Amino acid sequence: MSDCLFCTIAAGEISVDVVYEDDKVLAFRDIDPQAPTHVLVIPREHFDNVSEMTRDNPLLAAEVLAATTEVAQLETLERGYRVVTNVGTDGGQSVRHVHFHVLGGRGLTWPPG
Ligand code: 5GP
Ligand code: ZN
Repeated sequence: MSDCLFCTIAAGEISVDVVYEDDKVLAFRDIDPQAPTHVLVIPREHFDNVSEMTRDNPLLAAEVLAATTEVAQLETLERGYRVVTNVGTDGGQSVRHVHFHVLGGRGLTWPPG
């Protein structure tokens, strides 16, 4: 998708601080971090949200989730962390390319806003 920000990032056309990558998945630091560790994990292939990805390519969905664990290990979040994916307007999704936020490095409160 040429007009998708995260497709553009996945194609290497916008520079990001990469934490982990393989042929299917890219993990990079959020531009506006909400915790000491705030990494976004995306599939290189475009899906609007987690529901679409899980329906169309469940194996890829599992690989993206596995990459969140890889990120947590690389960031040494042994005290715990949070994995969040926002869906749609009420979910607060601002970028319509599925992504998982990996947040950690401080105690996180609940419930979210
Ligand atoms: P959402 O609100 O869709 O769940 O999350 C989108 C995230 O993407 C936000 O946390 C936002 O800070 C991050 N973001 C938006 N534009 C960029 C960018 O150009 N580079 C990086 N690294 N993160 C971005
Ligand atoms: Zn995209």
